[in-house]
Amino acid sequence: MFRRVFIGVGSNIGNRRAYYQKALDLMADLPQTSIVRGSSLYESEPIGEAKNWYVNGVVELETGLSPQQLLSRLQKIELALGRKRTALTKKWASRIIDLDILLFDTHIMNEEQLKIPHPEMHRRRFVLLPLSELAPQFAHPLLGSTVTELLADLADDKQVLRLPSNG
Ligand code: ATP
Ligand code: CA
Ligand code: CA
Repeated sequence: MFRRVFIGVGSNIGNRRAYYQKALDLMADLPQTSIVRGSSLYESEPIGEAKNWYVNGVVELETGLSPQQLLSRLQKIELALGRKRTALTKKWASRIIDLDILLFDTHIMNEEQLKIPHPEMHRRRFVLLPLSELAPQFAHPLLGSTVTELLADLADDKQVLRLPSNG
């Protein structure tokens, strides 16, 4: 059975667009998985201590993988692109690529290693803005509100700027 899944993609080190594109290429190569559509790219102010702005977007996949299988594949892609993860790596540290499972159809999971919907997605403009291009009427499985409604109610004052598609 194939599921509709939304992945949050972000990069804030090095050639951010190149890493973003490479991550998409590698996701397209995953077994039982195809890319349905990608959002526009956005530049967004970092959260936490990081100083570099992110290139962000959301990608819609169709996959026959389970949520756990997909997470483990995404983590392999992060490592293949050169993301460093150690016990000392701080949360929200700068990274060349970050791949988060935002929504996995209407699934709800609350395990330490995998929480779906992503617990912060509804509070983040850099997630909701690109997601609203792909699935404005998708209802958040826990909150019931659509992406459009979540965006309208958002308190996040961090800047998120749409990048020109050719630039
Ligand atoms: P945030 O989760 O606030 O965006 P982050 O992306 O910087 O922070 P990471 O260091 O990339 O956090 O991931 C920490 C852990 O989060 C991962 O080891 C992973 O097991 C777990 N995790 C839980 N739910 C998810 C999810 N929906 N998608 C991706 N990782 C998740
Ligand atoms: Ca993240
Ligand atoms: Ca992550």
